[in-house]
Amino acid sequence: MSAALAILLSALAMSVIVAVRYLIASGGFALATRVKHPGHYRGLDAQIRREIGWSLASAIIYGAPAGIVAWGWQHRGWTRIYDDWHAYPLWWLPVSVLVYLVIQDTWFYWTHRWMHRPAVFKRVHAVHHASRPPTAWAAMAFHPFEAVTLAVVIPLLVLLIPIHVAMLGLVLGVMTVMGVTNHMGWEMFPRFLWGGRVGAWLITASHHQRHHDAYRCNYGLYFRFWDRLCGTDQGVGDFAKHRPRGPRLDAAGGSEPGRAA
Ligand SMILES: [Zn+2]
Ligand SMILES: [Zn+2]
Repeated sequence: MSAALAILLSALAMSVIVAVRYLIASGGFALATRVKHPGHYRGLDAQIRREIGWSLASAIIYGAPAGIVAWGWQHRGWTRIYDDWHAYPLWWLPVSVLVYLVIQDTWFYWTHRWMHRPAVFKRVHAVHHASRPPTAWAAMAFHPFEAVTLAVVIPLLVLLIPIHVAMLGLVLGVMTVMGVTNHMGWEMFPRFLWGGRVGAWLITASHHQRHHDAYRCNYGLYFRFWDRLCGTDQGVGDFAKHRPRGPRLDAAGGSEPGRAA
């Protein structure tokens, strides 16, 4: 098999893996939402279908660079991914995870903030904010251009910064879980992680919900460092105003104003 065909197949396989990962993660937390807060997504079926469509398109985009780099890792030794626990000092294991998350967070903060400039917002980022309020299915609901900006970060980092394959799995796990739970419309983490002194530096659903409510604040991904430094942090949001709420259909059979049924 030619290298070009092998790379193409690797990219396709990775797109399928990312899509399945999305369906399992978002589906799992959507199910948890149904159990924990029955009716929370009532009336949002059309929005959820849209979120799934954009997210599956993003999965194809995420899979391409990841698949190419995975092929290069396996066949050409392109990356700095290692599998010998002692190839680097043990302290590097947790530090590498933190380094990856901080760089990804920094990239996300600045590109996200740029995407809120009116011209870019209208053309690109409005897709993500069409979810009002977002659901667990909105985790990867991005315009293809935005999906590309997000897809390249980890594949570029593994070319440059050494990371144990298990720690890379951990980074991808954190990315997946936070992407889903930040949008699911309720807080699953204990209060100290979002309300206390530790929480003052971390981003969970409570913080990102406020971004979806107020738009021009709370741009970060995992950490509140940049938001706090740049004066864009407006604290945590309020889920109560999105809670149902009784049946959405009124007596005349019409749907609640401002939301597609
Ligand atoms: Zn969001
Ligand atoms: Zn935004």
